[in-house]
Amino acid sequence: MSYCELCGRPAAERKMVVVDGTVFKVCMSCSKHGKPYTPAQVPASKKKKTTPAPARQPKIGMADDLVLDPEFPRLIREARMKKGITHEQLGMQMNEKANLLRRFETGALKPDELFAKKLERHLGIKLYISASTAATTEEKEK
Ligand SMILES: [Zn+2]
Repeated sequence: MSYCELCGRPAAERKMVVVDGTVFKVCMSCSKHGKPYTPAQVPASKKKKTTPAPARQPKIGMADDLVLDPEFPRLIREARMKKGITHEQLGMQMNEKANLLRRFETGALKPDELFAKKLERHLGIKLYISASTAATTEEKEK
């Protein structure tokens, strides 16, 4: 027997619903309180292309043990400044949101592999380094 995760009653049949952004397996009567859960959808982003990559993966899946340079915020910022363009202009060139670029430059957000590649192309920089180099760079002063 399985139990409803909302009311705790035994439920012969459970439905998956989303309540406040969390997925619960609930009984039929509780299922009315939530939205039906659809696994394919990511409610966080409004319009994103179909990138199946999971949001948080510890290592970027690339050959040769390459990882995102921990210094990427500085690298992106310096490369953009060198070009003398604003976040908005770079965002326009890349067809991406300037807001995202801002967050990468503060280190608040990590670009995923696709975005990082795009940045490398547009800015002419290298954002991926080998994992062993990364370990030593980490300790550098910020
Ligand atoms: Zn219930």
